[in-house]
Amino acid sequence: MPQRSHSTLGELLVKQGVSRRSFLRFCAAATSLLALPPSLVPVFAESLAKARRPSVIWLSFQECTGCTESLTRSHAPNLEDLILNALSLEYHHTLQAASGEAAEAARLQAIAENKGQYLVIVDGSVPGPNSEPGYSTIAGHSNYDILLETVDQAAVVIAVGSCAAFGGLPAAEPNPTGARPIMELVKDKPLVTIPGCPPIPMAISGVVAHYLAFGRLPELDQYLRPLAFYGQSIHDRCYRRPFYDKGLFAEGFDDEGAKRGWCLYRLGCKGPITYNACATMKWNDGTSWPVEAGHPCLGCSEPRFWDAGGFYRAVSVPLTLGPNTLLGAGAVGIAAGAVAGALARRRARIAERTLPPVSIEELEAKQ
Ligand code: SF4
Ligand code: SF4
Repeated sequence: MPQRSHSTLGELLVKQGVSRRSFLRFCAAATSLLALPPSLVPVFAESLAKARRPSVIWLSFQECTGCTESLTRSHAPNLEDLILNALSLEYHHTLQAASGEAAEAARLQAIAENKGQYLVIVDGSVPGPNSEPGYSTIAGHSNYDILLETVDQAAVVIAVGSCAAFGGLPAAEPNPTGARPIMELVKDKPLVTIPGCPPIPMAISGVVAHYLAFGRLPELDQYLRPLAFYGQSIHDRCYRRPFYDKGLFAEGFDDEGAKRGWCLYRLGCKGPITYNACATMKWNDGTSWPVEAGHPCLGCSEPRFWDAGGFYRAVSVPLTLGPNTLLGAGAVGIAAGAVAGALARRRARIAERTLPPVSIEELEAKQ
C-alpha cells in the first residue's frame, strides 16, 4: 500500500533534490504554456509550492497503454517528471506494484481517505451497456461500474487520450463494444479532456499543474479541451504554412515537393481542422513532430478521427468545428444554425459543470 504523504509539493521537490532554480524554470515554462503573463510566475510558483501532494487514481479501460507510455517515456528531468513524481499515484494498472485484491483495496482506500479531494485520470473508453456480458472487466466489475464508483467522490476528472475523450479507436465503426467517451458518462464533476493518440505529455502535466496551483481547471473549449494547448490549429502554427499559402504541395511521399518540404495537404494532412500543440511543443522533448518528419497530421486530437474523412485523402469538408475553424466553401451537410445551436447547448452544459477559469485579474490581485 503506498505511503500517504502530507508534504507540500515544494517540500517534496526539495526532498527529491530539485533546486529552486529548476522549479522556477519549470514554473516559467508552465505559465507560458498556460498563456499566463510572465508577471504571474511568482504567484504560480508560490501556489504550486504550497499545494498538498494530491492523491490520484488512474483508471485504464479500453486503451492501448500508449497514453501512459507517452507520459513515462519522456527524457531528462522535465516538467512532466517534476509534477508527476509529486503526485501520490494510488492506483494505476501498469505502474503499480500491487495486483489482484491488494490493488483493488488500494483504490477503495484512496477513495475513502481522500473524499472530495482526489483526482481521477482516465484513459480508454467504456464499453456500452449492450456489449457482451463480462466484456472489459477489472476484478469482476465492469468498466462502467468502476468509473462511476471512483469518480463519485473525486474533485476533478481528467480524460486523457482520444479514447477517453471521444471514444477513439474502440469507438471506430462499427464500434463492436459500444464504446463511449468519459464525458458521456460523467455528468456532475469538473471534467477536462486531453485528447491525442497519444496526447502531448506536457498538456497533461500543464493541466495538473494549473489545477494544483489554482484549485480549478484552466479555460476549456467546446470539447472540454484546455484552450492553452488546443486553442490553435496545427495549420495555424505549422512551419510548412508558407508553402500552403503559395499553393506548393507535395503530391507523393518521395516526389520533388516532399523533398523540398512543401505542404502535405494533398497527402491528407488534417492540420487545418485539428487543434493541438504539436507544431509548437513538438514531441520527444521538442525534437520533432509528424509534419516535420514528412508525415501528414492525422487529426488524432479531434472527435471521430479514425472514421471521419479517412487517412491520406485531402481534406475537403471540415470534420470538426474547432474554436477557430472556418466553415469554408467546401463545407457541406451542416446547417450553420444547427451548428450554432449545438455549440451553444454544449457550452451551456460545460458551464454548468466546470468551475469558472481563473482570471488574470484575480491572479494579479493575489500579488
Ligand atoms: S503540412 Fe498540414 S498543417 Fe502544415 S501547412 Fe500543410 S496542411 Fe497545414
Ligand atoms: S500531428 Fe496531428 S496526428 Fe500527429 S500527434 Fe499531432 S495532432 Fe495527432
